[in-house]
Amino acid sequence: MSGWTDAGAIGAEGVEELRALVAGEVVAPGDGDYDAARRVWNWMVDRRPGAVVRVADERDVATAVRFAADNGILLAVRGGGHSVAGQGTCDAGMVIDLGRIDGVEVDDGSGLVRAGGGCLLRDVDRVCASHGRVVPAGVVSHTGAGGLTLGGGVGWLSRKFGLTCDNVASFRVVLPSGEIVTADESQNTDLYWGLRGGGGNFGIVTEFAYRSHPFPTEIPVGLGFWPIADAEAVLRAQASRMHEQPDEWKATTFVIRPSADSPAPRELVGKPTLMVLQVWADDDLAAAERSFDLYRDAATPALATVEPMAFTTLQSLSDDAAGPGRCNYTKGGYLDDDFGDGAIAAMIESAEEMLNDNSLIEVIPHGGAQLNVGDDDTAFPDRQAAYSFNVFARWPLDEDDDAHIAWARTAFDRLDRHAGDGVYVNFFNPHEGGDQTRVLAAFGRERYDKLAALKARYDPANVLSLNPNIFPAEAA
Ligand code: FAD
Repeated sequence: MSGWTDAGAIGAEGVEELRALVAGEVVAPGDGDYDAARRVWNWMVDRRPGAVVRVADERDVATAVRFAADNGILLAVRGGGHSVAGQGTCDAGMVIDLGRIDGVEVDDGSGLVRAGGGCLLRDVDRVCASHGRVVPAGVVSHTGAGGLTLGGGVGWLSRKFGLTCDNVASFRVVLPSGEIVTADESQNTDLYWGLRGGGGNFGIVTEFAYRSHPFPTEIPVGLGFWPIADAEAVLRAQASRMHEQPDEWKATTFVIRPSADSPAPRELVGKPTLMVLQVWADDDLAAAERSFDLYRDAATPALATVEPMAFTTLQSLSDDAAGPGRCNYTKGGYLDDDFGDGAIAAMIESAEEMLNDNSLIEVIPHGGAQLNVGDDDTAFPDRQAAYSFNVFARWPLDEDDDAHIAWARTAFDRLDRHAGDGVYVNFFNPHEGGDQTRVLAAFGRERYDKLAALKARYDPANVLSLNPNIFPAEAA
């Protein structure tokens, strides 16, 4: 191929060659919608690829990945573009954008849901809801199902139905060699293991076949707000009673400074606040009410309600607050069973220092059905963690990055002193994407070595490198 401008780059002639080969669209610098095509969710990541290939089908995926591999072009693969590290784009190289492979079909007999590799969660949720079914996934509807599933997938229903990756019956995968294979319980079983938690390291998934579950259209959702002074009592109460909760229960606690357009009571707007969002994974309103009393009894809330809500509405509650078009910096980890006074004090201290009404710290309980799958049955490493936490700093493009990043790092460091090992690969931050130390911390040595052997088999040249990257094991 000619048209090189730099190692790993694709130049103008390469773009023309590629255009002749694929059925989809190739967007390059200078094209009208180049800026829209190159952007990812996190605007802190401002990269300029040489070509964005909006692939039409799996044949295009195979053609594009071979083109990149054969010509030494740096390759990013984009599902929904939500990687906080911005791994769905790159400078000078090629982006395979799966966004047009977004069909969803439900088989009412088997309950299998076939979803294209570029689907967003809302594509899957809406079609499933129209069949009275659900696939457990994440909590923001514009997240890509692709990256979320391959990294694990934690959401409102993971205590009830397990992680998203636990609910994948099979993957249709374009390998870096261009070969198209199926990975399931009987074919390419090693790949099937690695794709459930090992990220986008081994191939490009063009179709996920999910096992779905019958699910009501509406479920009870509890929402409560407390002044930060009451956070300790409420969080302690939750920690001491978590083991009593059935798998239907899930409640994420947030420390925030509520914005004027949030449902928080007026007296809490702009002030450090504890918010609890409790989701009940069936339609038993009375059970959800009883469970929410745990929080109400711990300290008098400024506001606390439990009401039925359409599941698809729940899934889009945070869509605007977590929308694209802002800069984002995230760090997270896992907390132990007892949550700990130190962790609570750390959250409260960081809430006092929070710089705006769009940043937050969240603590998510795990357990439940995700423990029904064995630790070694999938590549996902962190099944036993009691809680995960994430610190999110979000700010407009025209504000100085440093102060927001400094707040997030301080908040993370304070919590990290009380944290267990590990990190969720789906929340690697922009400065950690390529850092092997963090990838090793995420998987642990033994699991990493198994993944490295798998990588050597399916992607020996590390064509798929823009992910929490597993280096191919060296041949013995
Ligand atoms: P992309 O940036 O497109 O891709 C991320 C990685 O996955 C890249 O390495 C990419 O190459 C790879 N990839 C994507 N699709 C494919 C595919 N089809 N085949 C092969 N590789 C692929 N995680 C949770 O578990 N639960 C949540 O509730 C949750 N909420 C979130 C909310 C927000 C606002 C954000 C920003 C993230 C959230 N996440 C959550 C994290 C999310 O799971 C990861 O950011 C995930 O990587 C997003 O996938 P994506 O396809 O949108 O991202």
